[in-house]
Amino acid sequence: MSMPELGISVLMSQFRCNEVIPSKQHFLWLSTVGPMENLKIDRERRTTTDQVFEDLRDDILSLALLPGAKMSEAEVAARFGISRQPVRDAFNRLGHLGLLKIRPQRATVVRGFSIEKIAEARFIRLALELEVMKQACNVWDQKCSDSAMRNLEEQKAAIDAETLDRFHTLDFQFHLLICELGGCHHAIDTIMSCRQKTDRLCVLSFNRDKEVDSVIEEHHQLIAALNERDEAKATDIIRTHLGRLDSVVAEIQSKHAEYFE
Ligand SMILES: [Zn+2]
Repeated sequence: MSMPELGISVLMSQFRCNEVIPSKQHFLWLSTVGPMENLKIDRERRTTTDQVFEDLRDDILSLALLPGAKMSEAEVAARFGISRQPVRDAFNRLGHLGLLKIRPQRATVVRGFSIEKIAEARFIRLALELEVMKQACNVWDQKCSDSAMRNLEEQKAAIDAETLDRFHTLDFQFHLLICELGGCHHAIDTIMSCRQKTDRLCVLSFNRDKEVDSVIEEHHQLIAALNERDEAKATDIIRTHLGRLDSVVAEIQSKHAEYFE
């Protein structure tokens, strides 16, 4: 199996893994753990801590729990019908992921957005994806195009079915797929960790009118540029595409200053 094939099979395994994991998980795990860790997820072996962690993480990333929301170990333990220790362990894991703020003698709260972390993640992701476009232009062929188009068709279907979370997953997978097809498998983990820092903002951005239409249109333009192996065009498009986050940040900051740290 060649390296690109191996990479794609890893991605496909993630998709399959995705389908068997229950609940709201299906777009969230992809952004919070590395690919190899995902492959190890086994429902049978999930501990109580894992379940609490995953449920709370999903609620935070999907904004069911908003920044600033107070979290009580006792309440969560009561809700799950479990003791406080696994809840404490889950809280600690969420703290390490930067999703909870845990302070001694004070209430634990859902962390707000950090402008600094968002800027850092945006910078690294853009730098990587610009290079991915250059590399992809060197190797892009009809097979790559067909593969990317299949994902794009699924994106449209997700929009038609009004399943925004599914669209959100597919959008990110589209970027990882180009990474794979362009022979840049090594960049995937870093792109995933960058995405984790901006995930909640992406959820908010897709609630904005017309946002999804523009995103799909840019994905189309990206495939067209890659088909032409036009490096300048592809890098221009990805710069605009990832730059979308800036207006999302500005808008959310003006409407919801309380979401930011
Ligand atoms: Zn995209």
